[in-house]
Amino acid sequence: MEEVKALIRDIPDFPKPGIIFKDITPVLSNGKVFKKLTDRLRDRYQDKKIDVVLGIEARGFIFGASLAYALGAGLAIVRKPGKLPYQTFQESYELEYGVDSIEIHKDAILEGQRILIIDDVLATGGTASAAVKLVRNNFQVDIVETVFLIELCFLNGKEKLGDTDVFSLITY
Ligand code: AMP
Repeated sequence: MEEVKALIRDIPDFPKPGIIFKDITPVLSNGKVFKKLTDRLRDRYQDKKIDVVLGIEARGFIFGASLAYALGAGLAIVRKPGKLPYQTFQESYELEYGVDSIEIHKDAILEGQRILIIDDVLATGGTASAAVKLVRNNFQVDIVETVFLIELCFLNGKEKLGDTDVFSLITY
């Protein structure tokens, strides 16, 4: 994964002062590395009988779609409010200032399915823990793991995910 790490670009003070944004677009535009990364995740999960990969808006859609394809699994999406056209379940979570929420279609996953939740970056864990709650509160399914390309360990996001298994390809 050193090749992936070498391509991740730090953008200081984006989108606001004090944040070092991990820009993964150079990973996506390198076909060989993007394929290796997808194959690495496929190898980890191919024997785990994953039914649906659940991608978190927006970069989770990209890695979720490539992994779902590689596993022959379905793709479900968790989106910001007002984006999904059909009936939804919602979950709210706290931001540094204020609250935000995420939504999923009521029929996005089915009872008994085995789910992987994926996003590009685990930072404070607010988004991912809201996604876990959204799934747990509304569906009788098995969350096999939550998976991230990048984990910012110094923000302790894992703690918010409680007993959910977490796997991160690259840690800082
Ligand atoms: P959090 O809820 O704090 O764990 O933030 C996770 C979400 O925000 C993910 O969807 C990430 O894409 C995005 N994010 C948070 N911090 C960063 C960062 N330093 N670089 C890139 N994306 C980030």
